[in-house]
Amino acid sequence: MKLYLLFDIDGTLVNTGGAGLRAMKTAMTECLGDGGLLEGCSFAGKTDRQIIHDLIRRSGVGPGLEGKARQISTRYIQLLGPSLEGADNFFVYPHIPEMLEQLSKTPGNEIALLTGNLERGARLKLEHAGLWHYFSWGVYGDISEDRSDLSREARRIITANNGPLDPRRIVIIGDTVSDIRCGQAIGATTIAYSAGFEPAEKLLPAGPDHLIDDFRNLPGIIAQLRENMQAP
Ligand SMILES: [Mg+2]
Repeated sequence: MKLYLLFDIDGTLVNTGGAGLRAMKTAMTECLGDGGLLEGCSFAGKTDRQIIHDLIRRSGVGPGLEGKARQISTRYIQLLGPSLEGADNFFVYPHIPEMLEQLSKTPGNEIALLTGNLERGARLKLEHAGLWHYFSWGVYGDISEDRSDLSREARRIITANNGPLDPRRIVIIGDTVSDIRCGQAIGATTIAYSAGFEPAEKLLPAGPDHLIDDFRNLPGIIAQLRENMQAP
């Protein structure tokens, strides 16, 4: 039986050591003339489209928001590559490569992305980490300001390719309450990672199906889920 494992990126697979934030800040300053708009903003769990649109609204730009957003996105992507290259404290979370290797070798696992990153940003970050090749497809933060639209799109893609399915076979893996909620919005299995941007105390009240702080435990949880789903 096939399971669809959809991974978040920032705070789950990698930590860019501020490289994403720096690129966004510079793009904002250049395009809106005010990098200070980012002060006190949290990016965790938000889509890039939401981050960019929020900041444009904060800057007071009303009409022409879409054009401005496109301009900022393009500049952000141009800046992100060099910003990643220069980030000394970029890191991949512990045990991610061997976990992805193990899951990808297990028959019946389809490994994909569900991330707030713009598609090109996601690719830059994961290529930098040497992880991009594990993911066969993805749903990205270009399409909506609402993360739950991303999970609905993922379900639509999966059912379009495979027919109707029990939504618990879709597994959302991420480090924030927004990841849990977007999974719950489609009835998916949710797995929260508590060593990313949000701590267990914040994640637990949202009611994830599983909470992990060590990715060595993920393959076992996935195997157990497959067994439970196959039980008569
Ligand atoms: Mg995250």
